[in-house]
Amino acid sequence: MKAIDDYFPKTYEESRKVFRKNFDIIKALWPNAELTSHSIGKEEDNTIDMIYAEGTETNERVLFMTSGEHGIEGYAGAAMLDVFASELADLVDVKRTGICLIHALNPWGMKHFRRVTENNVDLNRNYLVDSSVPEDINKEYERLLKLFLPDGKIKSYLVEESEIRNHMSRGVVSEGYSGLMEAKGMGQFEFPTGVYFGGKEKEESAVFLISIQRKLLSTFSKVIHMDWHTALGPTKEVTMVMSENDGRSDKELKKEYGLKNVKTFSPGDVKGDSTNHFYEIKNLEFPQTRLFSALFEFGTFGTSMSANIREFLTITLENRLYHEGAEHEEDRQKILSEFKAMFYPDDHDWRLAVLTEGRNAIKGVFKAEGLYTIRG
Ligand SMILES: [Zn+2]
Repeated sequence: MKAIDDYFPKTYEESRKVFRKNFDIIKALWPNAELTSHSIGKEEDNTIDMIYAEGTETNERVLFMTSGEHGIEGYAGAAMLDVFASELADLVDVKRTGICLIHALNPWGMKHFRRVTENNVDLNRNYLVDSSVPEDINKEYERLLKLFLPDGKIKSYLVEESEIRNHMSRGVVSEGYSGLMEAKGMGQFEFPTGVYFGGKEKEESAVFLISIQRKLLSTFSKVIHMDWHTALGPTKEVTMVMSENDGRSDKELKKEYGLKNVKTFSPGDVKGDSTNHFYEIKNLEFPQTRLFSALFEFGTFGTSMSANIREFLTITLENRLYHEGAEHEEDRQKILSEFKAMFYPDDHDWRLAVLTEGRNAIKGVFKAEGLYTIRG
């Protein structure tokens, strides 16, 4: 029996090793399974690793699990891939079900404990379908430039923190707090060193993911996609985040998947995210294929307004630290430790909750989507 910490690797390389080793388990169940590694970026040996298998008799559906779209969040995601392979894969009806497991969509970010890619791009804002970004996509962001863009070396954590808090309370933000939340969801496409940067062109990781999405939509009658993330939602609980493209209400989804927390969002509030894009491809090119695609988030700071402000501080200061540095080592440490607390806490109770909540989410999806083998 593995100890809790054994599911949570310390480095990207360690995590990838576990994933590659688990290929043996999958191969025993799906003899046609393949493990592939796809190099990404300028640094050597950063790879997206993928285990892919078709149903042993028919391709009725595929279980598609992705991790590490937001680099550092991939550690919890990798724990779920490990849980799937070592505990749950043998419950799946292999005759009718394919699988596609992806380790580290953003390997550079995972290796360096950042959310973004080596080009400072938030991959979940990088999928605009027509690749033409409207000029005025994020007016709020422009009003808030002072908050979002790095502004010199960090002299003092406490001073920076109180400045950001002052800005937020002085009403610099139009409509205050809600303006900030809007700026975040919409991302921005102009300032490459700012937070929530969606990029000027598609990242290699996005191009790769889109090719896999097309492959799955064209090969299987139904695609069931679970994308693992951290930070959003109630602390130590899992939240399923779905595009309104799905069509079902929060209440229906909670009941069908046996989940306490479900959040739906409209494509109007979040620009360039991968889930909406997946639905767009399906609707435009593969209207006959059925798709269930959702993010599963493990909450860290919580959902209160103060938690949201703490998240904002953490994300902007980490970005500034990365681009401009800090004068004092203790400030650097403080910023990095807040960042880890937000996306990959070194906390026994949180990790236990990830395993428990994540298992339940997978089982809920198995049950609702009929993936279990019917015995007897
Ligand atoms: Zn995320």
